[in-house]
Amino acid sequence: MAPLPPGATVGIIGGGQLGRMLAMAAARLGYRTIVLEPQADCPAAQVANRQIVGAYDDAYALAELARASAVVTYEFENVPVEAVNELVADVPVLPPPAALEAAQDRLVEKNFLTGLGLATAPYRAVDGMDDLKAGLAAFGGAGILKTRRFGYDGKGQARIAPDRPGSAEAAWAELGGRPLILEGVVDFRAEISIVAARGADGGLAAYDPAANVHRDGILRSSTVPAGISDKVGGSARAAAFAILDALFYVGVIGVEFFVTRDGRLLVNEIAPRVHNSGHWTEAACAVSQFEQHIRAVCGLPLGDTARHSDCVMENLIGDEVARAPALLAEPGLVLHLYGKAEARPGRKMGHFTKLGSRQSAVGNRT
Ligand code: AMP
Repeated sequence: MAPLPPGATVGIIGGGQLGRMLAMAAARLGYRTIVLEPQADCPAAQVANRQIVGAYDDAYALAELARASAVVTYEFENVPVEAVNELVADVPVLPPPAALEAAQDRLVEKNFLTGLGLATAPYRAVDGMDDLKAGLAAFGGAGILKTRRFGYDGKGQARIAPDRPGSAEAAWAELGGRPLILEGVVDFRAEISIVAARGADGGLAAYDPAANVHRDGILRSSTVPAGISDKVGGSARAAAFAILDALFYVGVIGVEFFVTRDGRLLVNEIAPRVHNSGHWTEAACAVSQFEQHIRAVCGLPLGDTARHSDCVMENLIGDEVARAPALLAEPGLVLHLYGKAEARPGRKMGHFTKLGSRQSAVGNRT
């Protein structure tokens, strides 16, 4: 693919904060952006050249997006695959729709990952109470029941434990009737993620892994370096590269892992897009994950992923956004707010990255 010339338009499906930061990175490289999103004046549209206000599967809106864009990308993984497959006839869509298919359904995703020889939490498809009982028996009575599709930020999940009588029935009552997956509970020492990219020429690049803390299923903080051994970091990078190559991927991907207490690395999930646990790259790297993604989908060379500082990124969730003025007074702190008018509970309103001097040469401590 020849690089898109400056002034070309990048179409972005989805208008949240990830789309916003992609649009800002695109603008820095001289591109125009057009956002497809049903909610008017969404975070991405506030900084894009244009918004098409429409549903992600609205045929007219998609046709207009294809007409107006030189390439189309997306900022979330629940874009309807059928809609994207229709676009492909008229305009390049990157990352390729196969990546959406692999990531949208937790069962398909786990089968894809284990097919590549990567380890995951133990899992079973659950389509009825009998499957659930059989799965729980196999996993020692404990598990996490999840909807196969449309789960995010811990939504669509219920924990089942032997010391919580009735939790299996309660989980089934809450989630049953939809295709489900039961996962064994992983006894993890840490959750890490890696943000990596594959360019149009097949070149690969990865940022340093981050150690992530989640609360109520929502990412709270990402710390780099992640405090893992070089061996674990290298395995995470190799896993991300194997996933990118298998999908003939072009763009940035986020891959989340558990590091178990006995030192194994299990892939938790893949996100075929820029990732919340990579927001630190905008403050601690010369080329952020957002610019990296725009470079990849526009056919430009991938950028340098080296990290110039150690850092901690924290999300500002709900009314935590009120901390913004105080945070701005702190030296070495980079704040990013998303332009959302209403600070509802659980809503990601912004994030900040606190920079420190770089302690280690290779990014991973042993
Ligand atoms: P997910 O949406 O699947 O990434 O789940 C959100 C969070 O729930 C993860 O980041 C973990 O903290 C926790 N979690 C999910 N699945 C498991 C599992 N199989 N074992 C232990 N913790 C889990």
